[in-house]
Amino acid sequence: MKTISSEKLNSDQHSLIEAAIAATDTAYVPYSGYHVGAAVLTRSGSVFAASNVENVAYGPTICGERMAIGKANASGARDIVAIAISSRSDKFEKTEIACGPCGSCRQVIYEMAQVSGCDIEVIGSTIDKSHIAVSTIEQLLPLRKKTYTSVDLMSSEKLNSDQHSLIEAAIAATDTAYVPYSGYHVGAAVLTRSGSVFAASNVENAAYGSTICAEQMAIGKANASGARDIVAIAISSRSDNHEKNEITADPCGTCRQAIYEMAQVSGCNIEVIMSDKNKHNIVIKSIEQLLPYAFGPSQLHIDVVKGNL
Ligand SMILES: [Zn+2]
Ligand SMILES: [Zn+2]
Repeated sequence: MKTISSEKLNSDQHSLIEAAIAATDTAYVPYSGYHVGAAVLTRSGSVFAASNVENVAYGPTICGERMAIGKANASGARDIVAIAISSRSDKFEKTEIACGPCGSCRQVIYEMAQVSGCDIEVIGSTIDKSHIAVSTIEQLLPLRKKTYTSVDLMSSEKLNSDQHSLIEAAIAATDTAYVPYSGYHVGAAVLTRSGSVFAASNVENAAYGSTICAEQMAIGKANASGARDIVAIAISSRSDNHEKNEITADPCGTCRQAIYEMAQVSGCNIEVIMSDKNKHNIVIKSIEQLLPYAFGPSQLHIDVVKGNL
């Protein structure tokens, strides 16, 4: 992603940022006081702006980016080519760095990029436009294409014993997946600094949005056991559709966001080990590589390490 000055913006980018900044005024944020405005631009030049809507049960909170996409979709517009995001807080004076979308929003923007056939441009801006960062969704959510170059792939013989056991635990966990809708079994296993392993699988729901991925389940299992010092996570998957079994599992945007939060807590750039069920195609990346320019607790000026166990 690159930082550009506001004078270098073209007129579309300029109007889009203005729409996102204006939308921050409509944010419903009684809990965080953190106003986010987002605006999407369609190929035909339409702009749809919206803001974040929080909820007392924090989980149902919806970000400004997803609200803007929903607004465009509800107007029959899915050919999105760009999205601008801006934010401000009631709790601190100024945000110096333009914030990127959270992992969940990246996941939703990525889906829309497949629909529009366009690598959607993502423009983050501070409220005063002193810092503007431009990137694309492919840059912000790398490795979502399910195709890897030989540079990324490694053979299972190169794994150390911790990595090997972690992948085995993830593969074993796929057997416990509750996936009556997709038939897509995912297993994940986290490793803590002290060597403990916690494995879990995905649990789907008839209301698709209530589905919880294996990675988040594994993190929750570790957390419920008092373990937050996560250093690595392995992920594997298999499908009831046999053709997909060679696919190397990679975490969705929401899971990358959850792993990133834990990385802030553990103070470790968590290693993410992605594998197919036969361990033929293994890719290892750090969470910072998988979620660059992440939105995290520091954007809210909160020190999560203080709250560690
Ligand atoms: Zn978001
Ligand atoms: Zn996920």
